[in-house]
Amino acid sequence: MEFEAWWLILFPAVFGLGWLAARVDIKHVLADSRLLPRQYFEGLNHLLNDRTDKAVEVFVDLARNHSESIELQFALGHLFRRKGEIERAIRMHQKLLGRPELKQHEKHNAQYELALDFMKAGLFDRAEELFGQLGETDLSRAARRHLLGIYQQEKEWHKAIEAAQQLRDTSHTYQHEIAEFYCELATAAITRSQPAEARQYLQQALAEHRKCVRANLILGDLAAGEGQYEAAIEAWLRIESQDHRFLPFAARKLLDAYDRQGRAEEGTALLRGFLSTYPELDMLDVVYERIAATEGAEAAYGWLREELRRNPTQAGLVKLLAAQAADAPPERRAETDTMLRLTQEATRGLSMYHCAACGFKARQYFWHCPACNEWESFLPARGQAKA
Ligand SMILES: [Zn+2]
Repeated sequence: MEFEAWWLILFPAVFGLGWLAARVDIKHVLADSRLLPRQYFEGLNHLLNDRTDKAVEVFVDLARNHSESIELQFALGHLFRRKGEIERAIRMHQKLLGRPELKQHEKHNAQYELALDFMKAGLFDRAEELFGQLGETDLSRAARRHLLGIYQQEKEWHKAIEAAQQLRDTSHTYQHEIAEFYCELATAAITRSQPAEARQYLQQALAEHRKCVRANLILGDLAAGEGQYEAAIEAWLRIESQDHRFLPFAARKLLDAYDRQGRAEEGTALLRGFLSTYPELDMLDVVYERIAATEGAEAAYGWLREELRRNPTQAGLVKLLAAQAADAPPERRAETDTMLRLTQEATRGLSMYHCAACGFKARQYFWHCPACNEWESFLPARGQAKA
């Protein structure tokens, strides 16, 4: 490559421009920062160090001296709410709303913040009213999401369905949530002894989300409650094609329905068949108890050992040890009991259902997680946690 003399001028020129740009930038920042009061940085520093109380003190002082700054009032209102001082947050946002110079979008922001305050204070009707007024604004989607939360909390399922339908888009279809809301409506109808109404809601649930297992579980319960065991079995068996992991939820019900029709052996064979097709199903205990009751402890023990050989699991091991402990001769009782106790302690989590969204554990299965409010987030097998 040939060297050209003008390069000698080009390099210093580029460096010079960079130096100038940096100086201009720094000068600009310095000029801006001189406009901000010292207290602003003090408050910010407290906030960054999680000293919310101190930050509030500083900002209250600042807001008193700079009442013209609307952003500051918003920040302070937000801080009050975060600190749990809801009444102060409400007063702040109400005062802001009353300011005549507020631009349209600032007014909407103040309404939104006030609605959040009311929600945190548990004043859902007032929050609902304010969020409702934000329908045609830039905040409409966020407001509707909060409204959906309120309707669920208040068990206003019709309104929840409507809000979810308005919120649905390609990223979130709300299918399984809406189906769950219909299931909630069906459960309420059953409590009011309105089975026909309940059935309608359950059909709507399935139309919304054909994989809604809960709808078929309830449809089966409704039929069984009316003595229509064949229809009940049919409904529960549909779960296999929806999501076979939920079959254990219908296991005992299925056995009972077959028993009532005098087809006990068929019921047992059905569950044993499920276990051989899907060895991971959480229904070892149901089948074990069944075999023990109909064919005796020896047969149940033999079956369990065979199952464990085919599919070794911790849950199976605990069951096997429990069976051994129950049947142990007196001189070996202490030893088998200790083995069982230690294994049970080591596998305590196996008797709990886990929420895949937040990790909450419970002995009972929840369709709606009480900790994170997610729907159908509990895994259908006990002891399973999200990897
Ligand atoms: Zn959860």
